[in-house]
Amino acid sequence: MGRILIVEDEPQLLRAMRINLRSRGHEVRTAADGAHALAEAAGHPPDIVILDLGLPDMDGIDVIRGLRGWTRVPIIVLSGRTSGPDKIAALDAGADDYVTKPFSVEELLARIRAVGRRATPAEHGPLVTIGHHQVDFAARAVTVLPASAEGTRTASAEPAGAEPAGAEPAGAGPAGAGPAGAGPDGDIEPSPPRLTPTEWRLLAVLVDQPGKLISSRALLDQVWGPGHADDTSSLRLYVNRLRRKLEPDPSRPRHLTTEPGMGYRYQP
Ligand code: CA
Repeated sequence: MGRILIVEDEPQLLRAMRINLRSRGHEVRTAADGAHALAEAAGHPPDIVILDLGLPDMDGIDVIRGLRGWTRVPIIVLSGRTSGPDKIAALDAGADDYVTKPFSVEELLARIRAVGRRATPAEHGPLVTIGHHQVDFAARAVTVLPASAEGTRTASAEPAGAEPAGAEPAGAGPAGAGPAGAGPDGDIEPSPPRLTPTEWRLLAVLVDQPGKLISSRALLDQVWGPGHADDTSSLRLYVNRLRRKLEPDPSRPRHLTTEPGMGYRYQP
């Protein structure tokens, strides 16, 4: 339940969303253009904003910037399938997530629930659990949690040649990726993975905003710094390395997930 502001200039879509969200117990206010959206949000601060990017009077990106000047309210962007760059720009401007038109009500509701959970974030503190691993950001250490009953832990070695140019030194190598000295049966306790400084930074950025889709550009900017915005292949490589070290099944990541062409997300 919450107060939702819907900003959408297509009357039928606006009406359908209003009816559906009200029927779920949300308090819904609406605006059909950017100026009214900003005034409405200021006059009646919402818990969530659903924002169409294509508005008659201004770009939805400018609405996001206007809101972000004073509020951290979660913003879900509605965008056409053809406007990938717009969606990335929206995320970089401060949107929390997006739904691609046409979308189902269930999809929108799922996004609303997800950002609603984040609106009251549980401070993760220094300890975060990812799959079978407990990650301690204070001690910069990863420990392996006792194996669960399913016993599906997958050991995968780091393939040769996977090191990027500028690979990190010391203790970061393949030894960290899987069980050291696993025999043919592979049933010994795995040694805890070790993360490189870059992997720690990347993981920290992802974990800091659980569930939030973070654009590749934002990740590159925060982890590698300005000037690396286009180095998406390095980013992909590092995410894959984190998956091999932390995911229960790196080939089917559940906690460090990809939104193709957009970015990455940490799912607790
Ligand atoms: Ca529109």
